[in-house]
Amino acid sequence: MTLYKIKKSNIDNKGLIAAKNIKKGSKIIEYKGKLISKKESEDNPKFDNSKRIYLFEINKRYDLDGDFNFNTARLINHSCNPNCEVVGKGLKLWIESIRDIKKGEELTCDYGFSYDADYKQFPCKCKSRNCCGYIVRSESRWRINKRFGLSFKKNNRVNR
Ligand SMILES: [Zn+2]
Repeated sequence: MTLYKIKKSNIDNKGLIAAKNIKKGSKIIEYKGKLISKKESEDNPKFDNSKRIYLFEINKRYDLDGDFNFNTARLINHSCNPNCEVVGKGLKLWIESIRDIKKGEELTCDYGFSYDADYKQFPCKCKSRNCCGYIVRSESRWRINKRFGLSFKKNNRVNR
């Protein structure tokens, strides 16, 4: 039995929902695509900003283009408080749960977008308490909202 179902998402358009309770560390779905060179992903108009959401960086020279109907994992939405991450090596990529997920919960990943001048093109609608408003990887969120930098400092103080 597959661990996910395609459903209308509360975050954006369609998404994947847990079809049953999923334990932390479970491989849920393979992220499939076609290997393309960085040069192609930079030159081909197919990969303008509205599409780069499906590009997955493999290494310095290659990306994986996941913008195909056979890649059901492309439907997973970004969240600032994700319950899944992409794991694997080379072209064998999986979406894996990073905590226990309850049946009916939407599966989410941190898309890991770096912070750049275009970040405002990707508003985030995940509604997490820690949502920074845009799809930007967690390490860069303090650049958008100082609140995230402050909470870092506060945590450090508690640890000391
Ligand atoms: Zn968010």
